Amino acid sequence: MSNQELTTRWQGALMNNYGTPRLPLVRGEGVRVWDAEDRQYLDFVGGIATNALGHAHPAIVEAVGRQIASLGHISNFFMAEPTVALAERLLQLFGRDGRVFFCNSGAEANEAAFKIGRLTGRTHMVATEGGFHGRTMGALALTGQPAKQDPFRPLPPDVTHVPYGDAQALAAAVTEETALVIIEPVQGENGVVVPPPGYLKAARAITAATGALLVLDEVQTGTGRTGTWFAYQAHEGVLPDVVTLAKQLGGGLPLGATVAFGRAAELLRPGHHGTTFGGNPVACAAGLAVLDTIENEGLLENVKRQSERLRDGIEGLGHGLIDYVRGAGLLLGIVLTEPLAAQVQQAAQEAGFLVNAPAPDVVRLMPPLNLRDAEADALLSALPGILDAASGDGLSGA
Ligand code: PMP
Repeated sequence: MSNQELTTRWQGALMNNYGTPRLPLVRGEGVRVWDAEDRQYLDFVGGIATNALGHAHPAIVEAVGRQIASLGHISNFFMAEPTVALAERLLQLFGRDGRVFFCNSGAEANEAAFKIGRLTGRTHMVATEGGFHGRTMGALALTGQPAKQDPFRPLPPDVTHVPYGDAQALAAAVTEETALVIIEPVQGENGVVVPPPGYLKAARAITAATGALLVLDEVQTGTGRTGTWFAYQAHEGVLPDVVTLAKQLGGGLPLGATVAFGRAAELLRPGHHGTTFGGNPVACAAGLAVLDTIENEGLLENVKRQSERLRDGIEGLGHGLIDYVRGAGLLLGIVLTEPLAAQVQQAAQEAGFLVNAPAPDVVRLMPPLNLRDAEADALLSALPGILDAASGDGLSGA
């Protein structure tokens, strides 16, 4: 099977919702993946951060195999121990009493948060410009990216978008009628945008003053990606009412969660919401394996170490195409001095590295949390050549 053959079959059978994918992949191990022609790549995209532990991690393989061999899917009329255990484990990591709703994706986790907001009896919601919360209609209404929203208007109404990171604009938009404010601790899809210090704390104070719920969308930042279990835990004085999770929570399996605290945890009542596969024991067993492995292998520490290694290494290259590196933990954006991110992505792939380009001038890195020194160093050594190739050689630095 050639890469071209698989691409042609893809074009004949799949809806073209993302544009033609660049590369057919057939297997993976750790941070490595192989294409249909057996060419190897180092995967610094990690399934857009779903791949907490890399590909085919033995702990995931074992947990999924064990669970599906004993009890696979059951309906929500019944319950299974891994589902309960994962909810308990998450609440323990939050260090607070609360309630968990399990679903299958980030959009669904935010859809549940949207409904929780409506159940307060208020309808107005505040979200951020450039924010991304998913493609279902409620989540899309909260998303702040007009190009993704415009084909689907009218969306659920009464959402105000404010500039991200601007506490004054937030304070001006939130009223006594506001049900919820939803914020990503770092805007991932918008190009790894980090808010100024104190922003989340201000958001907490503003929402507390008017009785609005503070929802943190940690779909991309949660479960260890930024070096703490949840990104907000690195910010003092921030206790959200709702946190949404997905992506790497399931270690590659479809798993989302809406975690609510205090009064927000009491709003969903029987009949209000549900989804057939939510809390599926196999996905939850994978989730438990992810959390256990992060803890047992000290991966939060590894995230911090590799983050510094990559940041310092990339900025230290002194390449003319690199402005600076931003982000948190292993959610990093290389900000370029020119809008050549798509070219960098292509040149990286040709050199055997998978990265992506969420903005014209930002290259995003989201490797597995168990990235090793040698793998980070491999990217650092290859990067000058990749950047030269992307800029047509014109900009190589010192
Ligand atoms: N929220 C954030 C912050 C995300 O980054 C994403 C996915 N990129 C989503 C929600 C939607 O998640 P999903 O694709 O699993 O629906």
